[in-house]
Amino acid sequence: MSRFPGVDFIEFDALLSEEERLVRETVRAFVDDKVKPIIEECHREGRTPLELVPEMGALNLFGASIPDYGLPGLGGVAYGLIMQELERGDSGLRSFVSVQSALVMYPIYTFGSQEQKDRWIPALASGETIGCFGLTEPDFGSNPGGMRTTARKAANGDWILNGSKQWITNGTLSDVAVVWAKTNEGVRGFLVEKGTPGFTSSDQHGKFSLRASTTSELGFHDCRIPGDQILPKTTGLKNALMCLNQARYGIAWGGLGSAMETYWTALKYAKERIQFNGQPIASHQMVQEKLVWMVSEITKGQLLAFQLAKLKDAGRLKPQHISLGKRNNVWVARECARLAREVLGANGIVDDYPVIRHMLNIESVFTYEGTHDIHALIIGESITGIPSYNAPERTERPVKQTASERPTAETAEAAAEVKGGR
Ligand SMILES: Cc1cc2nc3c(=O)[nH]c(=O)nc-3n(C[C@H](O)[C@H](O)[C@H](O)COP(=O)(O)OP(=O)(O)OC[C@H]3O[C@@H](n4cnc5c(N)ncnc54)[C@H](O)[C@@H]3O)c2cc1C
Repeated sequence: MSRFPGVDFIEFDALLSEEERLVRETVRAFVDDKVKPIIEECHREGRTPLELVPEMGALNLFGASIPDYGLPGLGGVAYGLIMQELERGDSGLRSFVSVQSALVMYPIYTFGSQEQKDRWIPALASGETIGCFGLTEPDFGSNPGGMRTTARKAANGDWILNGSKQWITNGTLSDVAVVWAKTNEGVRGFLVEKGTPGFTSSDQHGKFSLRASTTSELGFHDCRIPGDQILPKTTGLKNALMCLNQARYGIAWGGLGSAMETYWTALKYAKERIQFNGQPIASHQMVQEKLVWMVSEITKGQLLAFQLAKLKDAGRLKPQHISLGKRNNVWVARECARLAREVLGANGIVDDYPVIRHMLNIESVFTYEGTHDIHALIIGESITGIPSYNAPERTERPVKQTASERPTAETAEAAAEVKGGR
């Protein structure tokens, strides 16, 4: 299997430190040597490649940005490059690492007690223990604030959970679930262990996307957990959103990995595939235009992700910046998969090539961790100051004006001056 050479049209690599390049090369080699030889089969069979988990643990791919428990505490660029290379292998594999790192280890590390951290972080880092993150419910996806799962405090200090979660990555594989539930103190996070009475999980079947990843439903039926399994520093839904922001940041880089893989496949194919007068299809202008679109958007996406990393390391990364990165780079990946599939012709629909798998996978990535449109609304709110997901009801009805009362452009300008509108 040929080695992936990277996509570097404008000497992007010159922006990377030696350590960042080393991290990328290590994960790149892991993906080429260990992931690519088995991933199409996993996708066909609909199974998570669990045999890769110990090596991912040994490579410190779980919780790589945590600077504790012997973990490397990598900066934003190196962490992002890990996500890029993993998603170049498969979006499901990157999902596994995103969930374990950003949605399980991060909340335990950030909101957990010392005992919780000591117990779970080393085991999750090695991959001996697998975790999942339960926020979405059957009736509440984009609007998690509507959740119906509740946690009630019993007289002896235990918590009793009731409700259900849907679309949970790694749900049935997990030893511990980070579950978000409404309490009389607001939304709080809980650690629910596999085997707890009243806790059930089952797999979602019939998926055509992320087939090399397990997606599950979780149920809580008077599920009683000890009082010390609440994440003590959680105070509201904002804590769950902080976890999502960690994961979404990684996806901004991951999308580039998927785009790079489909672009590179299309480029190689176009140079080898001969049609008309013994010429490779890469010699045709319309095929070149597709390849140029891909490399242009990947290059712009790299610069965007790089700047997000700089903001992250400086502590200035805002949710709307992450939305821009996730939204743009996953869209780029989706478009690259579609264009690459066109370039491959009929070969674009079979899994002898990675393109159709990436094309199917990216549909999930486009939707989870905030849909493409929800991220547009987050960016829209940041630039207009007006939240439009659920616009507040207007208390004052607009007064109907007669034609003579309606302001002309000039009178509107004058009124703005008088009110100090500029
Ligand atoms: C493979 C996979 C794995 C997942 N893993 C996890 C996981 O591990 N943990 C977890 O908690 N969740 C997980 N999810 C769930 C995921 O986060 C949700 O699917 C996502 O939040 C969207 O919710 P929904 O599917 O209910 O869509 P909905 O919220 O019903 O949205 C449907 C459509 O309506 C649009 N829409 C909704 N509200 C608005 C609005 N106000 N304005 C404009 N458009 C709007 C959306 O953009 C979308 O196009 C996973 C999903 C998938 C597919």
